[in-house]
Amino acid sequence: MLDKASALIDIRGVCRSFPKGSGEELLVLEKVDLTIRSGEIVGLLGRSGSGKSTLLRIIAGLVAPSSGQATCRGETIIGPPNGVAMVFQSFALFPWLTVLQNVELGLEALGVDATERRTRALAAIDLIGLDGFESAYPKELSGGMRQRVGFARALVVHPDLLLMDEPFSALDVLTAETLRTDLIDLWMEGRLPIKSILMVTHNIEEAVLMCDRILVFSSNPGRVAAEIKVELTHPRNRLDPHFRQLVDSIYARMTQRAEPKAPAIEGIPGSGVGMTLHHASSNVLSGLIETLAGAPYHGHADLPVLASQLQLEADEILHLGESLQLLRFAQLSEGDLMLTEAGKRFANLETDARKRLFAEHLVTYVPVMGLIRRVLDERPSHTAPAARFRNELEDYMSEDYADETLKTVVSWGRYAELFAYDEQSETFSLENPGGESA
Ligand code: ADP
Ligand code: MG
Repeated sequence: MLDKASALIDIRGVCRSFPKGSGEELLVLEKVDLTIRSGEIVGLLGRSGSGKSTLLRIIAGLVAPSSGQATCRGETIIGPPNGVAMVFQSFALFPWLTVLQNVELGLEALGVDATERRTRALAAIDLIGLDGFESAYPKELSGGMRQRVGFARALVVHPDLLLMDEPFSALDVLTAETLRTDLIDLWMEGRLPIKSILMVTHNIEEAVLMCDRILVFSSNPGRVAAEIKVELTHPRNRLDPHFRQLVDSIYARMTQRAEPKAPAIEGIPGSGVGMTLHHASSNVLSGLIETLAGAPYHGHADLPVLASQLQLEADEILHLGESLQLLRFAQLSEGDLMLTEAGKRFANLETDARKRLFAEHLVTYVPVMGLIRRVLDERPSHTAPAARFRNELEDYMSEDYADETLKTVVSWGRYAELFAYDEQSETFSLENPGGESA
């Protein structure tokens, strides 16, 4: 088939699940379709935990799909395919090797001879702006320079496809922007020894800045929910109204799926007690409510504007917005965040009254909170081990998520003075929940 042959990567109906703590399977990717052709930069944009890294690892041949087809130039991917290289989020460099040795390493595995290795490594180092650092060790380099070594190591093999898993997310803002721009400049000038790039990101602006095509990933399970073509010419300007419009519309798409779902049904994963709670500090949440209530928002903010004022990434602001929405203090809609009546009330209360309102909402809207409080009330000892609830959570979610959910429960419950928690014995109790009375 012509189409299949012209595709560098073709993913058809790929599903992948992992075992959960309870022994059941957690579906991470569901029926993902994706094609990557020569000459394009494709972005995979999604919330954290949506399965982006898993999909990238399937393409890199490091993880096998549970079902469906993953091919590279028409051949089923079994193990790392030729011509695919990956740049990781953190600088996976060998500390005892110099920059030059780290870069050459990629070629050793390919059986390239020593002279050729040296020539190509030096060329990659030069290209990526590391000239003069050949004999430095990773610890002598800044984060940005280390990530450049990561790029050089991937580029030196002249891969057809460069996979990048959030390669800028561990860098400070300015360094990340410099590296992004350098990379796009090299790409536009045709100087990168590669044909295509697939990059994973949870940063909307980064995707709009760099990609020709953005696949918006939905979560639980991960699925391609939308495809957006970016037709802005390079160099792209973040302040250009068309750029802003696109960012806005992607925010709106990502909040669409974050709007309240159907009422919780007992036994359906992701609702009721089995709802995953991602951690959001109660301080940050109340700070956000205050910010939203005050000028210039007066209870209604555009998410991209709010994110940039608070210097948060899309993923973070959406996460906080969802936490407020879960607690019915705010509502997400069309890329906006709006305080509810309860949210406005919260903003005007003193600390103790805030805690009481928070507690009321926790017990009413977060089923696991209500459950813990009920169990503690009913038991004569008014105590219960965390394992009692962890086991129940693991019926619905992975161990990691159960852990995170419990951590969130503990910190919200403590703030609201709903219960106390002893870290040492991992026990919930009604004793002295606020920590102030004897
Ligand atoms: P993302 O990169 O979008 O943040 P990941 O692909 O890393 O998402 O993870 C998606 C989900 O799959 C998460 O719930 C994660 O816990 C789970 N997961 C990923 N890899 C494994 C694994 N090897 N074993 C069990 N669960 C996994
Ligand atoms: Mg990831």
